[in-house]
Amino acid sequence: MTLPFDVAAVRAEFPILGTEVDGRPLVYLDSAATSQKPRAVLDAERDFLETANAAVHRGAHFLAAEATELFEDARATVAGFVGAAPEQLVWTSGATAGLNLVAGSLGYAGRLREGDEIVVTEAEHHANLIPWQQLAARTGARLRHIPVHDDGTLDLAIATDLIGARTKVVAFPHVSNVLGIVNPVAELVALAQSAGALTVLDACQSAPHLVLDLPKTGVDLAVFSGHKIFGPYAIGALWGRDEVLDALPPFTTGGSMITTVTLDKAEFLPPPQRFEPGTQPVSQAVALAAAVRWFGALDRDAAHAHEAALERRMREGLRSIAGIRLLGDTDAAARVALQAFDVEGVHAHDVGQFLDSRGVAVRVGHHCAQPLHRRFGLTASVRASAAIHTTEDEIDTFLDAVSGVRAFFG
Ligand code: PLP
Repeated sequence: MTLPFDVAAVRAEFPILGTEVDGRPLVYLDSAATSQKPRAVLDAERDFLETANAAVHRGAHFLAAEATELFEDARATVAGFVGAAPEQLVWTSGATAGLNLVAGSLGYAGRLREGDEIVVTEAEHHANLIPWQQLAARTGARLRHIPVHDDGTLDLAIATDLIGARTKVVAFPHVSNVLGIVNPVAELVALAQSAGALTVLDACQSAPHLVLDLPKTGVDLAVFSGHKIFGPYAIGALWGRDEVLDALPPFTTGGSMITTVTLDKAEFLPPPQRFEPGTQPVSQAVALAAAVRWFGALDRDAAHAHEAALERRMREGLRSIAGIRLLGDTDAAARVALQAFDVEGVHAHDVGQFLDSRGVAVRVGHHCAQPLHRRFGLTASVRASAAIHTTEDEIDTFLDAVSGVRAFFG
């Protein structure tokens, strides 16, 4: 059932949004770092722990069966949220763990050697950069990157030259966590496929905003984090095509992922269990399923139109304030409501503290994207990121506060 989109009704689902900061209403514009949690999620985790908590799989008792059913139902629900089948969805502790799993597993499989190339972008979160650096260092492969233009869009002409016979992996963000730009997935997949390279999509910042159908994107593997899509911490997922997951060896090993073990060796279960050793984040999986059920039941087209209006208001408002430089200021690409910026002459941390004094919560620093900041001659920026519960009034409060920054710091 699709519910009509009503921002006031959406907000009412988030207890934390009633917080006051020194007598001012909290304006939470840090959703790209972590999302707030609706009641459905808080209730689901508590309900599970109160009524069904037990270790999943192979328990002979009632609660174990109950917990296992809820855990596997959660997998099916979260897989369905991204257009996938349950057996294609591997639980991880988050996107970082998923990307390490993929890079580590490719390394174990001996799929890269000297002379091979891994291609990333200049706009990576460190989570989609350092695992590839490590893999390159261990295997002798070369790490290359697709640069961004001044407006933050990817240089596809260079990508076309870069991706070729030596390329084994092309890893890129669906949406940059600094620029807010939706990258051209189809074009990058086409380039990678013509080179026979594996594609890995970091969907962390698209999952909270865009309706995802991962199989349809053409990528081979993708990751996202639960805590950024209204779910709990310490849960995320790796999605992969059947044949791609089948061909990957386990990365971390231990209990619950084997068929037989002798003192000398082990045989492994098929995916997804092959990649899920040890005790799993069961209550978090159940709560993440509640998150995507809640989110998925909203009118996503209307929610998208609401966020698009927030994005325009935020970007146009920032553009009109003297001394503000936007990162990724382009109309040439689709965007999400996330905007990083620099205030001339004022350090990002000072801007963040000033906004905090007005009740406005933003992110400051390099946002785990140091190379991208270096590209723009910065060490830090301020990032405001909205979610479906953000209102136009909140954007105005934020803009009003930003317009006072330079006067305050003289
Ligand atoms: N990729 C992107 C684009 C992100 O924004 C983040 C988190 O900020 C990550 C990866 C890492 O996600 P996590 O810390 O949840 O593993």
